[in-house]
Amino acid sequence: MITIILVALLCGILFGSTIGLLALSAGLLLLNWMHRSAAKKLRLWLDSPANTTLPNSLPPWDELYGDLYRLRKRATDIRNQLEETLSRLREALSALPDAVVLLDADLRIEWCNKAAERLLALKSADYGLPINQLLRQPELLEMLNVRVEDSDRASGGRDERQLLLRTPAGSLLEVRRIPFGRENSLLLAKDVAQIEQANTLLRDFVANVSHELRTPLTVIVGYLEPLAKGDVPESKLLQRQCALAHTEAVRMGRLISDLLLLSRLENKLLQRAEGAQSPRRIDMCDLLNTVLAEAEALSGNSHKISLENTGPTILNGYGDELHSAFANLASNAVRYTPAGRKIKLVWCSEGGSPLFYVQDNGPGIAPEHLERLSERFYRVDRSHSSSTGGTGLGLTIVQQILHHHDAKLEIESTPGSGSCFKVRFKAEAVAV
Ligand code: ADP
Repeated sequence: MITIILVALLCGILFGSTIGLLALSAGLLLLNWMHRSAAKKLRLWLDSPANTTLPNSLPPWDELYGDLYRLRKRATDIRNQLEETLSRLREALSALPDAVVLLDADLRIEWCNKAAERLLALKSADYGLPINQLLRQPELLEMLNVRVEDSDRASGGRDERQLLLRTPAGSLLEVRRIPFGRENSLLLAKDVAQIEQANTLLRDFVANVSHELRTPLTVIVGYLEPLAKGDVPESKLLQRQCALAHTEAVRMGRLISDLLLLSRLENKLLQRAEGAQSPRRIDMCDLLNTVLAEAEALSGNSHKISLENTGPTILNGYGDELHSAFANLASNAVRYTPAGRKIKLVWCSEGGSPLFYVQDNGPGIAPEHLERLSERFYRVDRSHSSSTGGTGLGLTIVQQILHHHDAKLEIESTPGSGSCFKVRFKAEAVAV
């Protein structure tokens, strides 16, 4: 501006006042054009700042452009950061095993994670639709339709509601609605089928144990009751009743020690998962000879029991547990095989993997029972359990021990000809 005035003054002095005024007007017109063009460039840049480079201009526009550019860049950086945080948050919510559904004030779905698609059969195409039109279970509708009071929202979602929901697909969900923000809600759903199954297993287990203990206890109480009233039978009958009561008491004791052993095995499994114990070298010759001697003692020499040992001499594992598993299989063979028949204990290698098996000439087991034999308290013939002295926990214990050794139990049996219980180890179990 000062330059224009000075030029106009100079023109006025040199060429007269008319030329001076003309020079001033021309200068002002030029200045006006320059400002307009700078303003136009600024508008263009503001329309799409990302695509257009910052325009070059004269002062003071260049400073203004510089300030605007820095402001714009800061805003873009903040937006990028927010977008990244939001997408990480969504990724985290998507990775959750539980369903998460974000609802607006009108119960419309704003967003849901992968678990919600799986558990509640929602999909991204449902965004914007009211959830109560998609999920129609009456108890869920009732929970969704309850108005959340503002005071409850302010208290940080204390108005949490919860219910158990059976889906059309048959799974059992624990559903919760948590209010948040001004009017939003979170709908959370968790698959509790496994917890329910574990509870059912626990209930069945307690019922089974109670039943197993009640039977011998009833017999013992039955014999003791008349004695307590002073009603003593003649000595031969008394002796017989005492012997029976003793057998039942021993059975109860065996049941309790088997239950304690199972519980110890489960605890050990946990400790091992935490790396508390490591396998040791087991001398298989010693272990097999002990199992043979115990089987012979149990049989009282009424069976022909043999041992074949061509397997690896040293195995990596837990000696006391393997002894218990092998002894259980041998004792089953003795208890279920009629006197005078053969029982074979074999330790060998098959395809490079160690194998132990017990083969008997006993009654055999019908195919429909084979799958269930290692279930707790499962017996083929319940009526024989008192005569064989079994607790119904032997094969469960074997299975648990083999699980510790990464080994498998295979059962082959033909009714009328006998059974073969095989323990197959992995080749890596052989100690080098
Ligand atoms: P139990 O203590 O009753 O013997 P187990 O778990 O050891 O319990 O065995 C489960 C059932 O499997 C037994 O009740 C029996 O019916 C059957 N069983 C196990 N071993 C044999 C075998 N060698 N011959 C025939 N039946 C067997």
